[in-house]
Parts: sequence; C-alpha cells; structure tokens
Amino acid sequence: RPNNQAIVWYGMTGITAGIAIWCTHFIAILAYQPSAPVRFDLSLTFDSLVMAILGAILGIMIAGMIKTRIAIVIGGTLFGLAVVAMHYTGMVAYRVQGAVSWDNTYLVASAVIAIVLATTALCFGMRMTKGSGLKMTAALTLAIVGLHFTGMAAYNVASIGIDPDYSNPQEYALLALVIAGTAGMIVMGGLFTYFIEKRTRMESIEELRQARDAAESASRAKSEFMSVLSHELRTPLTIVIGYASFLSKLKSNTTSKLKPGEPITEAHFNSLGDQTELYGQRVKSAGGHLLTIINDILDYTSIELNDIKLSKAAFSTRDLLLEVAEQFQGLSGEKSITLSTESDDMAVMADRARCLQILINLVGNALKFSKADHIYLRARAQGTGFRFEVEDNGRGIDKKDLTRIFQAFTQIENADNRSEGGTGLGLAICKKLSIAHGGDITVESIVGTGTKFTVFFPFSLDAPTSKQLAQAA
Ligand code: ADP
Repeated sequence: RPNNQAIVWYGMTGITAGIAIWCTHFIAILAYQPSAPVRFDLSLTFDSLVMAILGAILGIMIAGMIKTRIAIVIGGTLFGLAVVAMHYTGMVAYRVQGAVSWDNTYLVASAVIAIVLATTALCFGMRMTKGSGLKMTAALTLAIVGLHFTGMAAYNVASIGIDPDYSNPQEYALLALVIAGTAGMIVMGGLFTYFIEKRTRMESIEELRQARDAAESASRAKSEFMSVLSHELRTPLTIVIGYASFLSKLKSNTTSKLKPGEPITEAHFNSLGDQTELYGQRVKSAGGHLLTIINDILDYTSIELNDIKLSKAAFSTRDLLLEVAEQFQGLSGEKSITLSTESDDMAVMADRARCLQILINLVGNALKFSKADHIYLRARAQGTGFRFEVEDNGRGIDKKDLTRIFQAFTQIENADNRSEGGTGLGLAICKKLSIAHGGDITVESIVGTGTKFTVFFPFSLDAPTSKQLAQAA
C-alpha cells in the first residue's frame, strides 16, 4: 500500500523531472535563432512549465503507485503527452516575425518518440535495480532531446524581410536567467536530497546495528545464565543424590562389616543414627539451596512478566531490620562478622515481604562477597520517602562493574564469587522490586573500603490510617 512518504517522493521526482525537461527544452530554444526576429509570450511560456511539471507528476505517480504494466504504459503515455504539450505550447509562445510552416510527419514522429521513450523511462524507473535510475535518466533525456529536435525539424521559418536583430534581448536574458536559476535549484535540491538520504540511511543503519548488538548481548547473557544455572542446580543436586545413596546403603554397609555371628549393639545403632542425622542435614541444606535458586528464577521470571503484585501494609522498619538481623545471626556469627542495625522510629507503607526479600539479598551479598567484618543495616526517613541502607567495610566493587551488577544474570567474574554460588539474579530482583514500589536502588563503592547499597522508596500514595500506623509502630 502506498504510504505518504512514497507520495511525497513521487511528487518531488515529478516536479524535478518536469522542471529539468522544461529547462532542456528552453535552453535549446534559446540556441535556435531563425532568420527572423523573435519574441516570447511569457505567460504561455510559464504555462508550458506548469504542463511539464503536472504531466511528470501524474505519469510518475500512476506508474509508481499502481506498478502494473498497464499503469506504466498509461503513466508513460501521459508523461510523454505532457512533454509534447509543453514543447508545442512553448512553440506557440515563440513569436517569430516570419512565415512559419509545419511538416506533419516530423510533428507526429516527435510525439511518438516522446511517448515511447517516456514509457521506457518509467519502465526502468520502476525496476529499482542497480543502475535503473541511470537508465531512466538516459531514456528521459533521449525523450526530450528526440522530441525537441524532431519537433524543430517540423518547424520552418521563412524570412519576410524583417531583420533578425533579436529585437528584445531582455526576454532572452530573462528566460536564460529563469532557466539557470531553476537548473541551479534542481542541482542544489538533488544534492540536498542526496545528503539527507545518505544521512538517514546511515542513521537507520546505526540504529539497526545498535538493536542487533543489544539483542546479541541479551541472548549471550541468557546463554551464559543457562550454563551458570545448570551448574548451580547440578551442584546441590549432586550432593542430595550422593547423600541419599549413602543413606540407602547405610544399613547394608554396617551389617556387612559385622563378623559372622556378631550381634548388633547399641554402639552400632548410635553410629548409624549419627550418620543418618549428618547425611539428612546435608540433604536438607542442599535441598534448601536448590529451592532458593529455583525461587529466584521463578521470582525473576514473574517480575519480568510484569506479574508483580505488591500487598502494601503499614509496618515498623525497626522490626523489619531486627528480623533480617535475626535471620543472619547464625551465618554472621560463623564468619565473625558484626551486623548492626539502626532505624528511625517510623512506620511505613510498603510490601513488607518484598522489603524483607530485598534486605536479605543485600545483607546476604555483603556476607558472601564483601569479606567485610562489619555490616550496617539502616532505615531512615528521607524527604518525601524513606531509605534502607546496607553498608559493608569490605573489598568494594570496581567502578566499571557498578551498573553491570544490577543486570540480570550478571556476576562479577572471579573465582571467589563463583565459589559462593548464586545466580546473578539477586540485585536484578532487588532493582525490579524497588522500581515496582516507585523507588530505586543505587550503589556507591570504593575498592578496598566498602560498598553501600541504598534503596529509596517514596511514601506510598495509599496512605495508612493512623490506627494502622499506631499498630505498626
Ligand atoms: P548473586 O546471585 O550472584 O548474588 P547478585 O545480583 O546479587 O548476584 O550480585 C551480583 C554481583 O555483585 C555478585 O556476583 C558480586 O560479585 C557483586 N556484589 C554484590 N554485593 C556485593 C558486596 N556487598 N561487595 C562486593 N561485591 C558485591
């Protein structure tokens, strides 16, 4: 279906072709000097220009927009006829003071040449192959030159004794000026269009290239994620299967070690029980780890699908921080890391479970990756909202990685981090959850000094009732 842009382009092509043809015709007319004085009817000359332009636009539009063979022939015929009309209107405007006679054969031949060559030109023009533009221009040039000189051969002027002093040189000068001006405009317009087109083409190539690069890097990130994920899932699963197979053979392994006739004692029973307990714990912890990974993936996917439903309620930030600290008590004690909490005395309106998830992620990361000995967990009121801060005095994050870490599936590549596991989804989930609350998460870090993650939430629009706030605080 032809669009507006195509119509504009066909129109512009028609105007340019019409003007160019008219210029060619009138340059040749100016060069033709019969043996009698000449004047020009300027308004008819102008009419001939309008005819050339309208005919060219009409012919090119019909051929270009319908694109069937018949449309090209009709368009070409109209175009050719318009050029013929322009030529002969121009000749009528050419007022010569002599005896004029016409040769009908040349006259008809000139019209046929114009129509056939204009049709041929449109045929080339519609092909859109390499070099077809040049062929079209050549055919059009032949059409106008053929028409003009055959037409002029049909035109004979005999002197009636008035001296051809070209008594009105101003008209010649005027026409020459108009022709030079319009020809100059066409060249300028052509160059302008050429550069604009080249530029738009470069821009769209650049846009396409960027889109392709983005798609490629997204797909690369996903493949990397799949490989990390398979590895992450396999590790705890191998542990589960390993200990389950120990458990399944525990009894037969113990009894096979008994000497013939040796009774099973309480000591055997106790050792069996101890081993079962240990193996059971390992299965449980590996299973728990597996579940965390799967939950992360499910969580991220559902957030990615915009399926995130926040259930906002008023809660005390101080209680929330204490709950986080409690969850990490065991782990921070194990690594002898101090986890301190500070909260303004406030109740806020947000999805408590999601806030807990964000903070657990951030504190978990600080424990896993930072090698810090102190982690600070804070909640503060700030302007039109409130913020959580998780700060550590650990090794920090390189500047170049600071924006990257929030992208899904991204882990900073180094052996230490890999050994800590994780899917690279934690911070991406935190970011999405913060944005879903109308807030954001940011990070500041100095390598060797520590890292601070700040989560800012604006105060919720669905404000809590004073009763809710009182209950929460
Ligand atoms: P993961 O699932 O691996 O924990 P995250 O998206 O939570 O993924 O974290 C991305 C990366 O950011 C981690 O691999 C880690 O290298 C880095 N990182 C996060 N928090 C810290 C921190 N407090 N100190 C140093 N590095 C950190």
